[in-house]
Amino acid sequence: MPNLIFAANWKMNQAPADAAAFMRTFTDQYARQNDRRVLFFPSAVALHVVVQAVKERADLEAGVQNIHWEDKGAFTGETSGSLARSAGARHVLVGHSERRHVFGETDEETGKKVVAAFRAGLTPTICVGETLSQREAGETLAVVTRQLRAAVAGVEPSAVATAIVAYEPVWAIGTGKTATPADARDVHVAIRAELRAIAGERGAAVPILYGGSVNRSNVDALLAADEVGGVLVGGASLDAEQWLAIVRSS
Ligand code: PEP
Repeated sequence: MPNLIFAANWKMNQAPADAAAFMRTFTDQYARQNDRRVLFFPSAVALHVVVQAVKERADLEAGVQNIHWEDKGAFTGETSGSLARSAGARHVLVGHSERRHVFGETDEETGKKVVAAFRAGLTPTICVGETLSQREAGETLAVVTRQLRAAVAGVEPSAVATAIVAYEPVWAIGTGKTATPADARDVHVAIRAELRAIAGERGAAVPILYGGSVNRSNVDALLAADEVGGVLVGGASLDAEQWLAIVRSS
């Protein structure tokens, strides 16, 4: 099983034509490396383009940035896990800080989305992270632990063992400020302990990604930190050359 994960969160960017051009450049230039997987989270309207581009490559996978917790029905504007799965997604981001802080998603809703993701056969990447004021108040570990516990409250430990977790300090997302490798390590070690408490020894295998202003210059140092099993990247994943440099790192 590859042990490093590089995940691109394109947020509300990349029209289908842009996504197609990006994926052509990427797949032409990136040869499979056996120790890593690369995940793409395009906008829902470009999902089909990415699904098509990765279909011959076992090391590349596509996902969606959000799902609703219901499977179907009168929820205008929403996409369910089962719809995303039927369109070729294998992954979903859950609890991203923009969902929590821009759209007011609660811990409870995040938990319902994790249940829905597993029900649909999607692997959730569960995002946790503290705000600047929470960090300054010394609440970082309490916040990420609470968010993680709430996110997996509705699923069996055996399912938790198959999830991905991403530590994304809110103050580092899209700001150009990055946690130091030592700061990331401290939080990742605490998340690992929590995963073991939840899922026993199987919790040791859950990848824990770091996210927050990762770029080609800081990625090596972050990946060298204990318990950092990959990166979740927003801004720097929008440029094919920079993304290629990031996924080739270490
Ligand atoms: C993100 O959106 O998950 C993220 C980490 O963004 P950025 O890399 O732009 O900080």
